[in-house]
Amino acid sequence: MGLFDRIKKAFSAEPEKETPVEQDQAIPETPVESDATPVESQTPAETAAAEKTETDEPASLATEDDSETVSPLDTPTAAPVNSEPEPEPEPEPEPEPEPEPEPEPEPVEASAVTEESDAIEEVPETEAVTGDMQAAETKKYDDGLEKSRLTFGQRLNALFANFRSVDEAFFDDVEEMLIEADVGYETAMKIADELRDEVKLRNVKKPEAVSQAIVEKLVDLYGQEGQAEDNQLHFAPQGELTVFLFVGVNGAGKTTSIGKFAHQLEKAGKKVLLAAGDTFRAGAIEQLQEWGRRDNVPVVASAAGSDPASVVYDAVKRAKEEQFDILLVDTAGRLQNNVNLMKELEKVKRIITREVPAAPQEVLLVLDATTGQNALVQAKQFKQTTDVTGIILTKLDGSAKGGIVLAVRTELHLPVKMVGLGEQMNDLQLFDPNRFVYGLFKDIIVGDGPQKTTDTDVSQAIR
Ligand code: GDP
Repeated sequence: MGLFDRIKKAFSAEPEKETPVEQDQAIPETPVESDATPVESQTPAETAAAEKTETDEPASLATEDDSETVSPLDTPTAAPVNSEPEPEPEPEPEPEPEPEPEPEPEPVEASAVTEESDAIEEVPETEAVTGDMQAAETKKYDDGLEKSRLTFGQRLNALFANFRSVDEAFFDDVEEMLIEADVGYETAMKIADELRDEVKLRNVKKPEAVSQAIVEKLVDLYGQEGQAEDNQLHFAPQGELTVFLFVGVNGAGKTTSIGKFAHQLEKAGKKVLLAAGDTFRAGAIEQLQEWGRRDNVPVVASAAGSDPASVVYDAVKRAKEEQFDILLVDTAGRLQNNVNLMKELEKVKRIITREVPAAPQEVLLVLDATTGQNALVQAKQFKQTTDVTGIILTKLDGSAKGGIVLAVRTELHLPVKMVGLGEQMNDLQLFDPNRFVYGLFKDIIVGDGPQKTTDTDVSQAIR
């Protein structure tokens, strides 16, 4: 059964019984940690993935003594300053309006991070609760991808507005429509070719049937290409330091994603430290410090213009000495083809690995979905020079270019690991390919049937 049919089957079920995830497309119900306790719904694939994490990442932290003896930096240019969140407000200027204040402390949600596995055991994991949580997560994808879905629907409508017959001119229009929908050039060509064969084979003539065939092919191709893809975030084993490095061009959403992710991790009981490694962009340090205050998470920072490697060294040292669980490192994002930037990123990464051999566990490239094909070009350039382990696709809520997810998989061959589906803290979600595809094409996958999601408050379900 292709992915299209599997999604159709899963999402056509009742909300309570909804099981949108099949074995090869796991939704993490627990943090993706090597010591994650298998939960009721854990599939063999999830278990295998969890075991794989452990064997893949034999993180061995240097002892504190080790860290004392290591030369701090290659070429330190400024002494970093550790800036803890102050109890009283600092009078420093706030150059950017973002991030927006959180109206109230948000309870933990089954979004990018969930409670520790042992804490999860206390959660009443009845089928109803699980079903509600899944429905709520599906709704997040539904809402976040609404603009992309509507635009794709409009493109399909436009394609069939002047439809006469399934001829060569029509297939050219299909190619064009798919390219405009940002699914990627190769994907567009492949789908059009397969459609030609299919139309002949099945003698498809009606517009609805052709629409259905286009989406079915898109979804099935996406499923095939993703069979070996690892969409999970990898953390160090319990008790050892995890380091995530965030890279990407200015404005992509690195700092905001770090802020949202830190909030979720902190709420899940993790001891989180941030490193303000973007010492280049005006206001970037203050922006991260503001997130730190908001999330109640300390930030290691230095003066603007100082050596980012120095900041990162200090942050790793502190994270080890004070037994932080996870260190999130912001980096500069000036032009991606800037040789100096790439050298800088390499240096930062080298220092992290020297101090914590298994780290960074993830190098996450943050891409702005609204930039469409441009994001792909950026990703290709970063991929050439940096060992990117995954993508965070932001601003999907404000974008009609959700189809970019297909191109990222089929042309870039990098796993999307998180998606930004809105402005709220918990709108940064672990990437779930099935929910994403459903959110993008649900009108065609299940038709205009009854609404299958509910407005469940996930946080209440967890409590
Ligand atoms: P950076 O330069 O890569 O650190 O980018 P920022 O984190 O400063 O983000 C740039 C802008 O994008 C800010 O206004 C953010 O609020 C906004 N942004 C980031 N992620 C998202 C998202 O998922 N959805 C929406 N709507 N806005 C986002």
